Amino acid sequence: MTEPEPCLACDVVHGRRTLPAGVLLREGGFALHVLADPSPLRGWLVLTSERHARAWYDLEAGELAALGPLAARIMAAQRAALGAEHVYAFAIGDVLRHFHLHLVPRYAGTPERLRGRRCFEGTADDALPEEEVARAARAVAEAMRR
Ligand SMILES: [Zn+2]
Repeated sequence: MTEPEPCLACDVVHGRRTLPAGVLLREGGFALHVLADPSPLRGWLVLTSERHARAWYDLEAGELAALGPLAARIMAAQRAALGAEHVYAFAIGDVLRHFHLHLVPRYAGTPERLRGRRCFEGTADDALPEEEVARAARAVAEAMRR
C-alpha cells in the first residue's frame, strides 16, 4: 500500500521521526518503539507494522504469523525486565490509521485511574521523563536479546 498522506507511524518506522531509544527491534515486518506521546507508564511500547497497513485485518499472512509470538515475547520481556505484573494489548486505530499494537505494562503500584484503557487518559502531570522512558525501553530490548 502507498502512503496516502502524512502518517506518524510511517514516519517512525522509516526513521523520519525519532523517539526516545529509537527503534528497539525490527522483526517479522514490525518495529518496536516507545509511545510517540508522553507516557504515563514505564515500559509502554508500541509494535508497528513496517508496511502502511490500515489495521490488523490488512496484515499479510507472514505478518500475522509473526505478530502473536513476537508480542508474547515482548510482554514476557516487559514482565522480566521491569517487574510488570501484567501487560495489556490494545489495537484501536481510530486516530492513527496504521496498524500498531500498544503493549502497556501494569505494575503493582499503577494507580486505579491509569489501569486498563484508562492508561490513555494520563495527564501532563503523569508524563514520565524521556530518560526514564528510554531507559525502560532499552531494558526490555536487552531482556529480549537474552
Ligand atoms: Zn503509515
